[in-house]
Amino acid sequence: MGLPGHRRTSSHKRRRASHFALKKQNLAACAHCQKPVLPHHACLSCGWYAGRQVVAGKQKLVETKAAKHKKA
Ligand SMILES: [Zn+2]
Repeated sequence: MGLPGHRRTSSHKRRRASHFALKKQNLAACAHCQKPVLPHHACLSCGWYAGRQVVAGKQKLVETKAAKHKKA
């Protein structure tokens, strides 16, 4: 089994840990509903991207699910 060749000093550990911090996610505002969206992603709440509806948003999905329930 492998063993550590040398003791890791506290400064070695801290220097390594200096790169562990997470970067803050860059968010833009949706052009349709003004909610925060990831850049180059369709809006999760309304499904808009590049000025048009590309996917069913959360609200539409809930509506279609409710409609399916009514039919069944
Ligand atoms: Zn939106």
